[in-house]
Amino acid sequence: MAYLQVNGITKRFGGIVAVDKVSFEVNEGEIVSIIGPNGAGKTTVFNMLTGVYKIDEGEIIFDGKPIHNLKPQQIVKSGISRTFQNIRLFQDLRVVENVLVGTHIRTKYNLLESVIRSPKFRKEEDEKVFRAIEILKSIGLDHYRDDYAENLPYGDQRKLEIARAIATGAKLILLDEPAAGMNPQESEELLQFIRSLKQKGYTIIMIEHDMSVVMNISDRIYVIDHGKPIASGLPAEIANNERVIEAYLGRG
Ligand code: ATP
Repeated sequence: MAYLQVNGITKRFGGIVAVDKVSFEVNEGEIVSIIGPNGAGKTTVFNMLTGVYKIDEGEIIFDGKPIHNLKPQQIVKSGISRTFQNIRLFQDLRVVENVLVGTHIRTKYNLLESVIRSPKFRKEEDEKVFRAIEILKSIGLDHYRDDYAENLPYGDQRKLEIARAIATGAKLILLDEPAAGMNPQESEELLQFIRSLKQKGYTIIMIEHDMSVVMNISDRIYVIDHGKPIASGLPAEIANNERVIEAYLGRG
């Protein structure tokens, strides 16, 4: 069985079927992209994978276990983390603190004064800061670590969001339009960065409108339109698929 197995998931909002029996699978270490026109249902798929929306039909199996009835926090703990279409950093916190927010998702402290002052707590906190700095180093952001998130260039803010997702300990990272708003140089750096994540063993699912990013980096692509799957395959197959060209690629 695949690392992530999505079987016929459906989400309705009143009369709208936002996602209609979508199935896909992702193997460990793959980069898989989900593409399609605006309103196709892509972000809704991410919201179902992360437990933000309960699915109406179907099942989601991750690492051999069903996760579609878990709460968002439990899904993060099971190893899936995400970034958002619109950057959601704590702008008034420092870079390293933003990464630390990710590490705290995995533990729950009883924040009694006696606990905070205990050597064990302090040691664990030190280890978290150390780990956060290691993550920042691994993505080339450590020189910013004491700067406020709001002062980072746009492309680096997006990287920082990914750093926070990694800090949760997740191995499956969902990226929602990571190249949105980036200039060509930032997109190129992002491409290299995502490739480096794959080399480190992360599995990635990406929603992206920038076709040069999608075609360059994806192992496989799924296309949805009006909530329905319309094609899947290798980048070259998708680029030449008549139905995909008509519904999406041929536009604009
Ligand atoms: P984009 O590329 O523009 O981000 P998308 O493919 O991510 O689009 P979704 O945001 O998943 O599309 O939306 C799919 C459909 O579901 C749209 O018709 C949208 O209006 C509808 N929808 C999404 N979330 C909700 C909600 N919470 N309540 C009602 N309708 C919603």
